[in-house]
Amino acid sequence: MNPNNNTLRQINLPTRLPKVGTTIFTVMSALANEYQAINLGQGFPDFSCDSRLLDAVNDAMRADHNQYPPMAGIAPLREGISKKIAHLYKHIYDPLTEITVTAGGTQGIFTVIACAVRPGDEVIVIEPVYDSYIPAIETVGGTAIPVQLVVERNGEGKITGYTIPWDALQKAITSHTRMIMINSPHNPTGMVWEKSDLDKLAELVRNTDILICSDEVYEHMVYDGQQHQSVARHPELANRSFLISSFGKTYHVTGWKVGYVAAPKHLMNEFRKVHQFNVFTVNTPMQYGLAKYLEDPVPYTQLSNFYQQKRDFLRKGLEATRFKLLPTPGTYFQCVDYKHLNIPETQLNEADFCQWLTKEIGVAAIPVSAFYDKTVESGVIRFCFAKQQTTLQQALERLSKL
Ligand code: PMP
Repeated sequence: MNPNNNTLRQINLPTRLPKVGTTIFTVMSALANEYQAINLGQGFPDFSCDSRLLDAVNDAMRADHNQYPPMAGIAPLREGISKKIAHLYKHIYDPLTEITVTAGGTQGIFTVIACAVRPGDEVIVIEPVYDSYIPAIETVGGTAIPVQLVVERNGEGKITGYTIPWDALQKAITSHTRMIMINSPHNPTGMVWEKSDLDKLAELVRNTDILICSDEVYEHMVYDGQQHQSVARHPELANRSFLISSFGKTYHVTGWKVGYVAAPKHLMNEFRKVHQFNVFTVNTPMQYGLAKYLEDPVPYTQLSNFYQQKRDFLRKGLEATRFKLLPTPGTYFQCVDYKHLNIPETQLNEADFCQWLTKEIGVAAIPVSAFYDKTVESGVIRFCFAKQQTTLQQALERLSKL
């Protein structure tokens, strides 16, 4: 090589993820900013967390908890998580060997996939699917096998909700199936699994070595007196599952990126082998702050009430429009069918309708079609109601024009 030659070599890096571009959340948030639209698109609260949590983190920093914590997370936080799960779901995970603190749910999910999936393995995902699953599976050389939630419609063709595609799930299982990924409460549809669904899943995988990755980041947002059906409630499933949760969702701190994974010891052992070289550990003062705050069960046990009020407020307002509301038994997302509005824009596909809604009506939403590998259009868009009452009110005023 001639060092005097000024032309630098352009290295060709073949992409690992040819289908991945900028995510719809980034696109819609940028558009919302550009058009000063009210952003009910990306799922994050526009209000502050409890000041007691901020104080607890501050105290931890000032108490000099600022160096590397243990690889799996600080003991008081893992103990707190274990107690919370035991209290809510009656399953005991050993904090020493069965719980690991992660850099948000996303890193937990990625690490579950990285430790479990080998090239040639198949992982079944249920569409509409959270956007990190398929790229994570493909990054490690696995093959994602999408099956789709069944879209239920009434006699007039209006969407009434979603159900689990049991036949398709059964058919998707092959000798290469390594894992099934489930997500309840479900982003983006808001649907929740019932106890009978967990029973059916257990039956489906009973005589196999199929693992379950259970994304439960919205576990504390289940409404109308229903209970969250964690895999931790189901001993047979818990025995083959990685359970994921996120403090970002539960405590209104999505930017902190702290979550956790719980799994039986032999699975957690493999998880930690990857975790320690993937992120090694998660920032110390947040862990101390969260451990202190987690001692009080009220914030997470009251979260469903808190969000149910917001859900009901948004639903009531939307009922005055021609949007058709889908049921929202969980999460902080409200899906609506826009195909029955009395405007020409109902002809637009979901992504274009969301762009139009942002630019012309001033409210950003997310197209549910973005949660499918190969776009499926059902005329449904998603609003996030993790917003202050005034934000929701303003959005409703704008939407009431439709
Ligand atoms: N799973 C689902 C279904 C989510 O909606 C999200 C956050 N949008 C995550 C996982 C990731 O959580 P975190 O922000 O803690 O990485």
